[in-house]
Amino acid sequence: MQSKYHQGGGFSTNAIYPYLAIAAHNCVPNIVHTILYEGYEVQVRAAVPIKAGEILYLSYAHALSPTLSRREYLLESKFFNCECKRCADPTELGTHMSTLKCSKCDNGVILSSNPLDNDAQWNCTDKGCGFKTSGAAMRKFLSVIQSEVDQLDSLEPGPQAIEQREAFISKYKSVFHPRHSVLLSVKCTLAELYGRVEGYTIDELPDIMLGRKVEMCRLILDTLDIILPGETRMRGMMLYELHAPLMYLARSEFAAGLVSQDQLKEKLKEPLQCLVEAARILQREDPQSPEGIMGHIAFESMAQLKMSLDTL
Ligand SMILES: [Zn+2]
Ligand SMILES: [Zn+2]
Repeated sequence: MQSKYHQGGGFSTNAIYPYLAIAAHNCVPNIVHTILYEGYEVQVRAAVPIKAGEILYLSYAHALSPTLSRREYLLESKFFNCECKRCADPTELGTHMSTLKCSKCDNGVILSSNPLDNDAQWNCTDKGCGFKTSGAAMRKFLSVIQSEVDQLDSLEPGPQAIEQREAFISKYKSVFHPRHSVLLSVKCTLAELYGRVEGYTIDELPDIMLGRKVEMCRLILDTLDIILPGETRMRGMMLYELHAPLMYLARSEFAAGLVSQDQLKEKLKEPLQCLVEAARILQREDPQSPEGIMGHIAFESMAQLKMSLDTL
């Protein structure tokens, strides 16, 4: 395996870890790994309970990519056709990360007739509808959309980075399933931006936007439970993102007299649990890495919230 990452100083390096490279690929991995900056040591952990003798799986592809893109990437760069359970299921294990809405009817969705064949036809699930399109057309469509997403990703963090992503979601919400990977990856970035950029800092977000951040974090966490189960970096980061709007919403309800002090205490338990889990997951990362820094912040915030809960 080759690994590439940026240090605090900004340089990147490649390394080969021959023992880790033995791990097989699966689009739903069962191990996680951390590279420590000091000595470039790699630590491997089970992401989920693994029985003795079971195969250890890494994912060589990006977890949030749809099946067509993952399989194409794996074929081009790793020279094999992935036939894992996630790839073989047109609904991607019920996540619908490859599912499109049907433009011809309200009852059906568009799924691949055979996800293990990149050229297979895509059909509407409503028998009476009859809408179909070719695998080639679907690939072309996804690559056009991807260039729009790339453009969004090139935006500097600021109010327009939020507003243009929200406009993108509105534009395509009638095209993609709400959990399609295109929308999911945009929502993942939005979940991080809300509360962080000018005009949208956490203490100036109205309750409706706090609610939007909560909704996006939960959608991503629910999807991660299926495609990237266990204590992964992405889960740690999303739990950290989720704690803040939950905490602000609870305090805002209390300030408005909508909940009692006891109910506030009860409501603050969830953000506290988010921080406990986020700190545990992210503090395993190198302290100088963005995730490691976040782990430290999560730990401090957890201590602070515990203290304020004790004095309530
Ligand atoms: Zn696969
Ligand atoms: Zn249809």
